[in-house]
Amino acid sequence: MGYPKVVVDTKIITENVKCIIEKTKYRNISIAGVTKGYCAYPEIAKAFVDGGVDYLADSRLQNLKKLKDIAVPKMMLRLPMISEAEELVKYADISLNSEVKTIKALDKAAQKNGKIHEIILLMDLGDLREGFFKEVDLFHAVEEIKDLSFIKIKGLGVNLTCYGGVIPKTNILKRLTALAERIREDYNIELEMISGGNSSSIYLLDDGLPEGINNLRLGEAIILGTESAYGKTIPGTNPNAFTLRAEIIEIKEKPSVPTEEIGRDAFGQIPTFVDRGVRRRMLLAVGKQDIDIDTLTPTDEDLIILGGSSDHLIIDSTDSKMDYKIGDIVSFNMHYVSMLRVMTSPYIEKEII
Ligand SMILES: *Cc1c(COP(=O)(O)O)cnc(C)c1O
Repeated sequence: MGYPKVVVDTKIITENVKCIIEKTKYRNISIAGVTKGYCAYPEIAKAFVDGGVDYLADSRLQNLKKLKDIAVPKMMLRLPMISEAEELVKYADISLNSEVKTIKALDKAAQKNGKIHEIILLMDLGDLREGFFKEVDLFHAVEEIKDLSFIKIKGLGVNLTCYGGVIPKTNILKRLTALAERIREDYNIELEMISGGNSSSIYLLDDGLPEGINNLRLGEAIILGTESAYGKTIPGTNPNAFTLRAEIIEIKEKPSVPTEEIGRDAFGQIPTFVDRGVRRRMLLAVGKQDIDIDTLTPTDEDLIILGGSSDHLIIDSTDSKMDYKIGDIVSFNMHYVSMLRVMTSPYIEKEII
């Protein structure tokens, strides 16, 4: 197998899912396992299902297509495009929505497909990305769509901590459960699913997730064990399911700071340097088009990531106890952004174990 390579340990992912479900099941919260962070590789999605997720969810139709042979209901996370309605109802059982025109297009498509499509109506509770901002607009939408024959209003949902960085709080999510109560009473609709957000809502499980929230859509929390409101590791999870492995192509002693006049680097930025004197530096054959340098951590804690360019990663290995040689492999753990980029890059070999 070639390098650079990402090794994905599906057993760790299954255990992470089990760990989170242990914390949510006593409250009857269903979990939609979000697959977009790893491009919905079916082998990894199966690890979600083995761990016990109730739904698989993704923001892209191409990804949901890849999951068609896995027998759990699928959820579309991004607001559907009208242009994809016909395909969407084939590959997604549920979608998140905030536009009546789109929902009517989904109704038509579902009729053609001969199957009811379920929708979650999204409220924007302050993060300012998607969802109805005014409550009255939500009620008007319910009135307009409640009698569509091929659409079932399955519930309400919210997404936070994505654009605005707004952290879910008890009072914010209580607005959602109160709205659900009101729709149930006024329109006699069951609203079986109240979806209370993503990995940033996990921290509320310990205190403050309102009664009535009965679904979470989780990617980061079950893949990397991180709750994303405060960036903490969730007790009992393992953050190291994904490991990047890259090969050393040069080792030389060099000064830390260029001695000639400095212009811009390969990405148009004026670089800055820490002067540590002459240091032993290694070049690795992986670069910014494959990884996010800021969210990568070498497993050898004595390595310092100095920077990189499109195809190179530059590492200071002076303080390491390891005797690295040309051709050796260096390993890294990854946060969400690096994982996403690594899984998206066609230059990175994928080894799923
Ligand atoms: C990506 C996404 C999620 C999952 O986010 P994580 O932070 O990885 O848990 C949930 N809901 C929506 C609408 C999303 O776009």
